[in-house]
Amino acid sequence: MRDTHAVLLTMTTTHRPATDLGFLLHKHPEKAQSFPVAAGMAHVFYPTAREDECTAALLLDIDPIELVRGRYDRAFTLNQYVNDRPYAAGSMMAVALSSVFKTAMNGVLKSRPQLAGTAIPLKIHIPAVPSRGGPDLVVKLFEPLGWQVEAKTVPLDPQFPQWGQSPYIDLRLTGTHRLSEALRHLYVLLPVLDNAKHYWVTEEEITKLLRAGEGWLADHPSRELISQRYLKHRRGYVRLALSRLAEADESDEEELDNALDAPVVEEEPDRPVPLSLQRRESVVAVLKAAGAHRVLDLGCGGGALLRDLIKEPSFTEIVGVDVSARALEVAARRFERTPERVRNRLTLRQSALTYVDKSLAGYDAAVLMEVIEHLDEPRLPALERSVFGEARPGTVVVTTPNVEYNVRFPTLPVGKMRHSDHRFEWTRAQFRAWADSVAERYDYRVRYLPVGQDDPEVGPPTQLAVFEVSR
Ligand code: SAH
Repeated sequence: MRDTHAVLLTMTTTHRPATDLGFLLHKHPEKAQSFPVAAGMAHVFYPTAREDECTAALLLDIDPIELVRGRYDRAFTLNQYVNDRPYAAGSMMAVALSSVFKTAMNGVLKSRPQLAGTAIPLKIHIPAVPSRGGPDLVVKLFEPLGWQVEAKTVPLDPQFPQWGQSPYIDLRLTGTHRLSEALRHLYVLLPVLDNAKHYWVTEEEITKLLRAGEGWLADHPSRELISQRYLKHRRGYVRLALSRLAEADESDEEELDNALDAPVVEEEPDRPVPLSLQRRESVVAVLKAAGAHRVLDLGCGGGALLRDLIKEPSFTEIVGVDVSARALEVAARRFERTPERVRNRLTLRQSALTYVDKSLAGYDAAVLMEVIEHLDEPRLPALERSVFGEARPGTVVVTTPNVEYNVRFPTLPVGKMRHSDHRFEWTRAQFRAWADSVAERYDYRVRYLPVGQDDPEVGPPTQLAVFEVSR
């Protein structure tokens, strides 16, 4: 028999009916279920499933053989497993939680949206949490989130107290939270507690951290420590995560927005100012210099630029346009708490840019920020006609990736595009050929500006064109 090592977590609610927990977790209380996960097998079962109290248990059987086969991650050897086993268990539990309760963690429950959005009384018990930092750290991490924390160090062997304390903590959390929130707290903080240093961290982890930390991490007093440990002390990554969190603190929607439309790979590891921010700043500067007051943000996505535009009183009328209803919902939520007198300057419209929309005519300026590359190339002439031919704003600002720069992104495999939805990425020459031809056909003058560091060899990461109407 293989020597497997089990880690247990239980969640209890007294919400009525308590068996709603089964709906929330998408796991039926009446049957035990098992799932293969990266580290071994995960089992979900319900020790209690009554109307007044329900407990779900997640038992993770960590299988060292699977670990060595490399399903968990490349940098993990059996030797490390044996030596560091207690420290890595927290990370594995987090990974198991996110794969077994993925939908629950996202907080979407189509059949019972109300239930998923409701904070319910929860007790979470993890009898053996590996913790570097002891009970104090556990309190520091969970208490600011509204959890009541009971953390006891577990003796190495209760029969032989003289052996001293183990690196494990018996952790009980009590609080009232949405279940999705509670799961996201655990997903981030368990690996932070175990602080395992030896597994792979890629730029993708930043996105995972920001997504799971949505709504709570930006204001957490220990956000720096959390980011450092979560990102395995990779300094460039930690800086990036913190700068994105700082950007996010006025709006919880930033991460959602990142998930929605930010490129998969674009941040240069040692640049403290994210490229997305530099891009928005450049666009705003061009619009201000053009003296524009009534502005269209075409393909506005989750509204990151709209938020910058609305901060500038000189933009008296701002219209965000997107074909995606989901993007517009995210954008709308961003302004829920904006005072009405400010919000009145903003309109959101669902419209496809490849069709003529008469209501877009007569504006001072339009922005197409990171939009054209999301259209199939044969559809571009339709967009050109509706924007430059029919809407005909005085100024049009277009940004798009410069594919030549892709070699400078350390995590982007050769030949891959920056975002899975990009239909093309152009060289500087290709972009200029397109923009020159548009300007000529529709009577605009065009000039070009770099966004981000202008590399002597491959140019800037983002290319920007400013079109001005000639007549
Ligand atoms: N401008 C935003 C979003 C860029 S992602 C930013 O830079 O952050 C591209 C956006 O273009 C997506 O939100 C997508 O829904 C939108 N889009 C793609 N094709 C479109 C079309 N034909 N009409 C309108 N919007 C479109």
